[in-house]
Amino acid sequence: MYDVIIIGSGPAGLTAAIYAARANLDVLVTEGDVPGGQLTQTTVIENFPGFPMGIDGNELMEGMHKQAERFGAQFVLGTVTAVEFQNRPFKIHIDDTIYSAKAVIVATGSSPKALGVKNEKLLQGRGVSTCATCDGHFFRNRAVAVVGGGDSALEEALYLARLADHVTVIHRRDEFRASKVMQERVLNNPKISIKWHNVVDDILDPAQNRVTGLRLKHTLTGEMTTLPVDGVFIAIGHTPNTQLFEGQLELVDGYIKVYDNSRTSVTGVFVAGDVQDGRYRQAITAAGSGCKAAMDCERWLEETAKA
Ligand code: NAP
Repeated sequence: MYDVIIIGSGPAGLTAAIYAARANLDVLVTEGDVPGGQLTQTTVIENFPGFPMGIDGNELMEGMHKQAERFGAQFVLGTVTAVEFQNRPFKIHIDDTIYSAKAVIVATGSSPKALGVKNEKLLQGRGVSTCATCDGHFFRNRAVAVVGGGDSALEEALYLARLADHVTVIHRRDEFRASKVMQERVLNNPKISIKWHNVVDDILDPAQNRVTGLRLKHTLTGEMTTLPVDGVFIAIGHTPNTQLFEGQLELVDGYIKVYDNSRTSVTGVFVAGDVQDGRYRQAITAAGSGCKAAMDCERWLEETAKA
């Protein structure tokens, strides 16, 4: 029996683990499919305070992991397959093992969205990717496309421009959603061009078992064109990882509904990070909310013990 099980090991989960373990609670962190979370799939993080020259995502997450371990947090690899929040102690199924806890902090983050076009799944790993840092090196001196107009898309485009011969950003409007600084960097990069008002109609060519190009549709004229590329990176936002909690926790637009800072609809279950935040989704805001969830959890455990 743990005092608290933290589901997820991104900046929210690991910050919660540091605070909870340091408060002398028995803490178990479930690492999930992507230990360290989305930051392990990114490049240099330039806006996490305290690192004037930026810090590598993996390095930052390794540091948080070690810091939580130093205070006694335990870690378990594997994916949570079911949760039981109806009665206390709560039960968390990880593969074939069931763990019990007095309290739970949900910090499962979010996952990249798919375009939903026919050949996308078929060509996944054969030129279709959602992670430039992971797969960019396969496209050295090749032509690639990035889909999306937010910070993620432009970050991917800038990263790929260092490796690829040319990068085309495909965006469905004529204005980026990304921050001004990222827009300027992309618009001033001679290796990046933009196809405004275009969406991907499908990805070519499953017959060759690899990406050879994109069929694009102009959103205003309906005109169809083909863009020859060797790879396509999809960066059109994220979906909160809440499937596990459907029917157990109240959700709003797919995100976990938050009551009173970090409390959820179930007493004793707290939430932190991107899984409850469709707006800011930053490493630092996730970490901050992990801290709040751990403090709320600790106070609640103390009050419950006294009652
Ligand atoms: P986002 O801001 O939601 O942007 C998603 C982009 O994809 C938008 O441009 C959107 O177009 C487009 N899009 C959505 N669905 C589409 C579809 N089906 N087909 C074509 N295009 C589609 O997501 P994000 O870029 O992942 O960023 C999420 C958050 O993380 C933001 O707050 C961002 O600032 C933050 N972030 C920050 C950094 C950084 O600071 N370095 C890096 C990455 C992410 P519309 O614009 O037309 O809606």
